[in-house]
Amino acid sequence: MELDSKSPTGPIETRWDRHRFNLKLVNPANKRKHTILVVGTGLAGGAAAATLAELGYHVKSFCFQDSPRRAHSIAAQGGINAAKNYHNDGDSIYRLFYDTVKGGDFRARESNVYRLAQISVNIIDQCVAQGVPFAREYSGYLDNRSFGGAQVSRTFYARGQTGQQLLLGAYQALERQIGAGTVQMFPRTEMLDLIVIDGRARGIVTRDLITGRIESHTGDAVVLGTGGYGNVYYLSTNAKGSNATAIWRAHKRGALFANPCFTQIHPTCIPVSGEYQSKLTLMSESLRNDGRVWVPLQKGDKRPPNQIPEAERDYYLERRYPSFGNLVPRDVASRNAKFVCDEGRGVGETGLAVYLDFRDAIQRLGKNLIKERYGNLFDMYERITGEDPYSVPMRIYPAIHYVMGGLWVDYNLMSTIPGMYAVGEANFSDHGANRLGASALMQGLADGYFVLPNTIGDYLASNKLEKIGTDHPAVKEAEANVTCITKKLLEIKGTRSVDSYHRELGKIMWEYCGMSRTAEGLKTALGKIPALREQFWRDVKVLGNGEELNQSLEKAGRVADFFELAELMCLDALERNESCGGHFREEFQTPEGEAARDDERYSYVAAWGFRGVGNPPELNKEPLNFEYVHPSQRSYK
Ligand SMILES: Cc1cc2nc3c(=O)[nH]c(=O)nc-3n(C[C@H](O)[C@H](O)[C@H](O)COP(=O)(O)OP(=O)(O)OC[C@H]3O[C@@H](n4cnc5c(N)ncnc54)[C@H](O)[C@@H]3O)c2cc1C
Repeated sequence: MELDSKSPTGPIETRWDRHRFNLKLVNPANKRKHTILVVGTGLAGGAAAATLAELGYHVKSFCFQDSPRRAHSIAAQGGINAAKNYHNDGDSIYRLFYDTVKGGDFRARESNVYRLAQISVNIIDQCVAQGVPFAREYSGYLDNRSFGGAQVSRTFYARGQTGQQLLLGAYQALERQIGAGTVQMFPRTEMLDLIVIDGRARGIVTRDLITGRIESHTGDAVVLGTGGYGNVYYLSTNAKGSNATAIWRAHKRGALFANPCFTQIHPTCIPVSGEYQSKLTLMSESLRNDGRVWVPLQKGDKRPPNQIPEAERDYYLERRYPSFGNLVPRDVASRNAKFVCDEGRGVGETGLAVYLDFRDAIQRLGKNLIKERYGNLFDMYERITGEDPYSVPMRIYPAIHYVMGGLWVDYNLMSTIPGMYAVGEANFSDHGANRLGASALMQGLADGYFVLPNTIGDYLASNKLEKIGTDHPAVKEAEANVTCITKKLLEIKGTRSVDSYHRELGKIMWEYCGMSRTAEGLKTALGKIPALREQFWRDVKVLGNGEELNQSLEKAGRVADFFELAELMCLDALERNESCGGHFREEFQTPEGEAARDDERYSYVAAWGFRGVGNPPELNKEPLNFEYVHPSQRSYK
């Protein structure tokens, strides 16, 4: 398939403005005649639904939680980037653009990233106007801190709960529209299929999670802001409910899936403690502003941290990367943690942890200031581990956190199915092979508040879209498909729980398609996953029935989709014979153990087409061109 990214050309500073000017507009009086279905109420979907309704469109908004404000975005801790240069420390739109293209290891589109950096400054203004309580300095200016991969302070934050505060802003904007009658809200409603008519997205099929009722909603365009799929690994920092079903089922209806193997492993999470753990907890990257990462110099040194003298500690990030120190990007920090643990220098009972130590910061700044900056994170750490991080260093280890892969979208955020858009973590995003910290919130809000509301009008104004009744054969076919999957899952009545299959799949993925990958390991995974998937469909035990609140059934559908997605992720990782960002193939590394890209052969977005479960998918390539930031070996030394 020929992929047209619709990326504008010409001077990068004016691309978005010129592009917007060339887009068709919908007359204000005509906007209310269009119905837009927005699935997801996180920062991306919530911002999109509120803004589209404010513009005058009729919006239907869906989420599976009981309230839109429980979307996973609420968990975001550390902050949101913007090139405001309030600190006068050399930041600019160009620098944010540069850092993001480089941070993503040259696997993102320059036009998109530049637009993201431009819009970043509008996001902060918009959120402040909504009343989001960003942290302020004594003078009253908004405060900033630093995140990985940047040498400036450009991260705006609200203690360790930035996502929650930003989501409350978007939620209030959404509620205002619900009150005005422009948004119809459907909580506890899960999208289970996409309705495609004459090649265009015209609706969705949903299941009411309380009553089990299967229903269809039709409209002129569909927007998926359904978040990321990190939970394919079972253990991740994502909310337990985060899943891939909406984007995966859209993929099965024809939307290409881009760079599925690009996953982000966050270096600072509370380590796994046992077999029956169901979730991992993030300790925000902001902690690396003041915390120092180290392990003992000697292998197998089991002394308590406070008894290890300074000369016998290895602050390995500061040693290896003196320019960026503890604030190297996540992929680099994670890999280094794995290296030192593989050398036998890991700490804690399992040896799969490194220290994040605040001793020096507390001595320098005082306990109160550290408490003010990170108090809620320290409390969370203490509640989970029983250790006081003010007096004993935190133990941390990398964990699955975010996915850079997702539905392929063009510059207008439209997928390969006309009329279907993807925003936020659900699309393959602007982050290339590695996302810099505090950029997901920026991207989700840029997509939802600023990009989509401009671009969607062009599609609506350019196409004649007849009304679609819910008795249309394509609607009936999609409904029958959903009913059939639900029935099939309930009828298996096997012996093993959904969770046990999910956990086993997660282990395969972590082992063979996790922090480091090899061709041999990926081939092993590609043997194991289909076998486990087949066993799941023969033997899974889903309790209850389909006409009630049934979380076992909900999970079963999501895990069934994870099985298919996991296979695609491994294929994508196997096909990409290079290392870039979070995709680290052991066969492709520099003599210093850094990711070795192969720009000649792999400077493209891999966009996969579905050809049936178990059949080899179709690989399409969107070549990437770099006119401004020339690909080089990333260095943070
Ligand atoms: C612990 C943690 C901390 C983080 N901290 C930061 C940070 O400090 N800074 C930063 O930039 N990023 C951070 N991130 C990443 C960031 O939070 C996410 O990438 C971002 O919030 C995703 O937003 P979203 O709107 O795309 O999706 P989400 O917030 O995941 O929302 C998804 C929405 O889709 C709905 N949905 C999903 N599937 C369906 C379906 N089938 N039917 C109906 N509804 C559906 C859900 O109900 C929900 O409303 C963090 C992530 C984690 C896990």
